[in-house]
Amino acid sequence: MPKFTCKVCGVQHSPAQNPPARCLICEDDRQYVRAEGQKWVELAQHKNQHDTIWHKVEDNVYRLSITPHLVGIGQDPHFIQTQNGNYLWDCMPLINDQLIEDIKAKGGLKAIAISHPHFYSNVVDWSQAFDNIPIYIHINDRPWVQEASDNILFWEGDELRLEDDVTLIKCGGHFNGSSVMHWAGASDGQGILFANDTICPQKRINSISFMYSFPNVIPLPARKVAHIGKIIAPYKFDRLYGAFKENVMPNADQLVQQAVKRYIKALE
Ligand SMILES: [Zn+2]
Ligand SMILES: [Zn+2]
Repeated sequence: MPKFTCKVCGVQHSPAQNPPARCLICEDDRQYVRAEGQKWVELAQHKNQHDTIWHKVEDNVYRLSITPHLVGIGQDPHFIQTQNGNYLWDCMPLINDQLIEDIKAKGGLKAIAISHPHFYSNVVDWSQAFDNIPIYIHINDRPWVQEASDNILFWEGDELRLEDDVTLIKCGGHFNGSSVMHWAGASDGQGILFANDTICPQKRINSISFMYSFPNVIPLPARKVAHIGKIIAPYKFDRLYGAFKENVMPNADQLVQQAVKRYIKALE
C-alpha cells in the first residue's frame, strides 16, 4: 500500500489505499492548509529525482537539505557525529540510496531524535533504512504521530540522557512535547544546543523568539516562555542551531536568557 505525505508539512502517514481526508498537523492552528486545498504526494515516487546537500556547520555537525525542493516547509535536520555514534536531529522528507550510502560512509546512524510534529517527515522510513534504529519522540506529542511504528520510543519526563554528553530536554511551549537536544561534546569542548522551533533563531543576527504558531503569529504565554528559560538554564552552550539556516553564537546560552526576558517584557 502507498504512503501519502502532506505536501505542505511533509509529514508521511501510515500506509493506506487512499490519501487521508485531511492533515491534522496542517489543520492545527500552528500550521496552515493552502488555498488550493489539501495535497498529497508519494515520496517513494520522487525520491530518486532529489539530492541531499551536506552543509558543514562545524566539525562533526552537518545540516542536510533537499534539492530541488520536494515537499514540506524546508525542514533541515542536523547530522551529528558524537564520540559514541551518529545522531540525526529532526528529519527531512527524503531518503534514497545515495543518501543512505553517504551516511554509511560517515559511520552510519545510531538514532533519530525529533523536536516536534512539524519535523516528523518520513522518519519511519529513515529508521527502517538503518536497521530500525530508535526514533525518540516526547510522549506529550504522541497524538500527533501520523505513521505508527514500533521503532518510535516515546520518552517521558523533562530530560532523557542519550549519551554521557547528549541530552534531550523537554521544554514545551510550541508543542506540549517540544524538545531540544544538548550536545556537550563539540570538537572545541563547548556545548551546542539544537533547538529548532522551540527556541527559534530569527533573521536578525543572534535574535531568538518563541511562538505557539510562527506562520499564524500566535504568541506563547509568558509563563511558558519563563519555563523554557528555567529548564534550559543549567545547560552550557556556545552555539544554538536552528532548522532554517539561522544560528546563534557565541555565548548562545546567555542570549537565550536575554531573549526570554525580552519576550516576557514585550507581553507586559
Ligand atoms: Zn500537513
Ligand atoms: Zn514548528
